[in-house]
Parts: sequence; structure tokens; C-alpha cells
Amino acid sequence: MTHKPTLSLDAFAGAKLKGLEAANRRRELTSAARGPAMALTAGGRDMISFTDNDYLGLSTHPAVVDAAIEATKRYGAGSGASRLVTGNHPLYAELEAKIAAFKGMEAAIVFGSGYLANSGIIPALVGKSDLILADELIHTSIHAGLKLSGATVRFFRHNDVAHAAEIIAAERGQFDRALMVVDGVYSMDGDIAPLKALGELCADHDTWLMSDDAHGLGTIGGGRGAVAAMGAEGLVPLQMGTLSKAIGGYGGYLAASRVVIDLMKTRARSLVYTTGLPPGTVAAAVKALELIETNADMVARPVMLARHFAEALGLPAPETPIVPLVIGAEADAMAASAALAEAGYKVTAFRPPTVPEGTSRLRFCFSASHRDEDVTGLIAAVRALGLSALGKAAE
Ligand SMILES: *Cc1c(COP(=O)(O)O)cnc(C)c1O
Repeated sequence: MTHKPTLSLDAFAGAKLKGLEAANRRRELTSAARGPAMALTAGGRDMISFTDNDYLGLSTHPAVVDAAIEATKRYGAGSGASRLVTGNHPLYAELEAKIAAFKGMEAAIVFGSGYLANSGIIPALVGKSDLILADELIHTSIHAGLKLSGATVRFFRHNDVAHAAEIIAAERGQFDRALMVVDGVYSMDGDIAPLKALGELCADHDTWLMSDDAHGLGTIGGGRGAVAAMGAEGLVPLQMGTLSKAIGGYGGYLAASRVVIDLMKTRARSLVYTTGLPPGTVAAAVKALELIETNADMVARPVMLARHFAEALGLPAPETPIVPLVIGAEADAMAASAALAEAGYKVTAFRPPTVPEGTSRLRFCFSASHRDEDVTGLIAAVRALGLSALGKAAE
């Protein structure tokens, strides 16, 4: 052997990291211990987290945790195999029936995660001779599905129905099948897709509309998500989402017609060739959905807190629990995040490629489990940053 096997490999990784560091784009994993009510201990510091997607605090809800423990004791810590083999423990049927009913769809299928759902659903529906239209700001996990499908992809400007219509008019006829993919709620901006107008456009042009409701379920539309919030029932035949945000656990899902769900069981590779979720995870999601269905005040609280925060700082009124504060340069966003950590608040700075160039930002996520005084303290800490991005009300 003339080379140590890892010599060029380590050299590659080292050089790559150096470049990322120079651009302020190196990322690090920090050990983060979460507790109830958004308490977080990270980097030796106790903070209140305003960066979690646990919009209802259900990840630490005693009833949800108990459900996970009971199911783990009864069925084991793992599922043992793919769902198509022996990993399909009885709790799955209960969860899928619940999701379908809550979403007002015929059926649902649960995947290992939202990322796996997006990677599997899209290639199971469209391929080389087909067209995909996608909003330019769709979540990264959807891009994985687009690539794997091999379909021709056209992006339309964010939430721009007229632009989408232009592309459909020009290109739909040249392809066999067509799929449009959007986020229900955009995670970096907190705005909602115009699902009604997009749904009508798609219906007129035999194009299947798929929405990713990762941030909508449990937070808007009375908890039912973006389709309900936008009055687009019946117009979105493919409703994907995740169990890892407001549901507080882990897993992804698709709610659709019975026949589409049956197709996924045979054709979605990220369902067939991966192990089923642990039983405790599925049981936790069943319990979390029950709590969402029966607790309207809890569901309404995150958006209420987000509105209060935005109003106090002169920011535009949010429609969801997500409030972005665009700062611009990577280093400035990171400095603002560090200053908030110093004050006891965890607010992550998001940088490219997660967000477009020059729009590095703080993103605040509000949860039903935040106390009023947490939000009051956060408002003061953000004011103290003295950012020019803040509106007049901040003065
Ligand atoms: C978080 C997220 C996903 C991925 O879901 P996971 O269950 O975390 O893999 C997919 N789409 C959107 C819009 C998301 O925000």
C-alpha cells in the first residue's frame, strides 16, 4: 500500500471545513438537555428555548411520556424490522386512523421521519416523463424527493400563484403527470402557502398538490394545519407532515386517499427499506394527537404569544408561531444569537444554505409551554440588542 487509506480523505474533510469556517458556515453540535417548559441546558448555560419546534410542549407532557413508557414496556424498545416484515406493531393502525380523521382524509401512512416521508412519497408518484412545480422556499427534505424522482423540476417565486400559473400554462402540456409541492407553513419565514388558490390552479390543470404541514399541524387551523387554516379542504390531495414538531415526538406521515396510501406501502422506498418506528414513539404520537384534539386553548397559545412578541417589537403580525428577524450577514446573526444566550434565551441563528444569501436571521418559535414572563423577558433582551431590523415600536 502506498498511501495510508485515510490520508486523502482526512485532507479533503479538513480543507472543506476550513472553507466553511472562513465563510462563517461551519456548524457544530452542542449537547442540549431539554426539560419541561422549554428549559434548556446547553454549553454550560441554563436557558429558556425559543428555538424548539415543540410548539405545544408535548415532548415533555407527562401523559405523552407515560404513553411512550407503557408501550415500550409492552412491545419493546424497538420495532424489530421494517413495517412490511414484522415492525408493524398494533399502535400504527391506531395512529394512522387518527391522523386520517384529523386531516379529513381517507387514509394515512406513517414514515420514519418527515425527511423520509418526503424522500419516499415524491418518487413513488412522479418520474422521468413528469413535471414537478415547487415553491422556491420548500424545505430541504423535499429537495431530496425531487432529486430522487428524476422528474423535471420548475420553481416558482415564493407564494406567487400567478408565477406558478404561468409555468403551468407554458409547460404542463409537455409532460405526462404533474405534481406541485409546497410547504403549508414556511419554517424560516412563518408565512402560510395560498393553498386555496394553488389548489384551484392545480385542479384546473390535472396537477396533484402536495403540502408539507410540518409546522402547521397542532398550531394553526384549530390544530388541523394549513389546509384547514386556508379553507382549502378538498383541494390538497397529498397532505404530508411530521410527528416531530407540535406532536413532540418523531416520525412523518402522508394523509391521502386510500388508494394512494396503498401505493405508498408498496412503492415508497423510504418506507419499505427502513425499520419501523419504536412502539413508544408511535404511542406518544397517539396521545399527543388526543391532547391536540381536546385542548383548544393549548393549540391557540403559541400564535397568541408570537403575536404579542411581534407587536411589542414592531414586527409584522405573524400568522403562525414562527417569527423571523432578518439580520443579514452570518456573523451579525450569530453575534445576536450569542447575546441572547448570554441573557438566558436560546434563539438559533439560521444561515445560508438554510436561508437565502444575505438573509441570515434569528428565528423565534413560541410554544404553549412558555410562561408569560418568559416572553416578557425575551422582548426586553431583543430590544437590548438594538437591532436596526426592529420596527418603530421597539424605541
Ligand atoms: C422539519 C421539517 C421536515 C422534516 O421532518 P422530520 O420529521 O424532522 O424529518 C420536513 N418538512 C418541513 C417543512 C420541516 O420543517
